[in-house]
Amino acid sequence: MQALCTTCQKREGVNRREMTNVQYVVMKNGRHAARGTCGVCGGGMYRIVSAAEVPGASQA
Ligand SMILES: [Zn+2]
Repeated sequence: MQALCTTCQKREGVNRREMTNVQYVVMKNGRHAARGTCGVCGGGMYRIVSAAEVPGASQA
């Protein structure tokens, strides 16, 4: 999954990186998010996703 990496954005001006170690979380407002690690710099990444992108999620 591609996600925004603020570390790479600052260093190289590239903000889209492949995210590894992806973990899906549900926020208090019921929306889904994905958290992971940047495959390039190893920094933390965070991205809002739709329920359809979450494996196994119910279409609530
Ligand atoms: Zn990065």
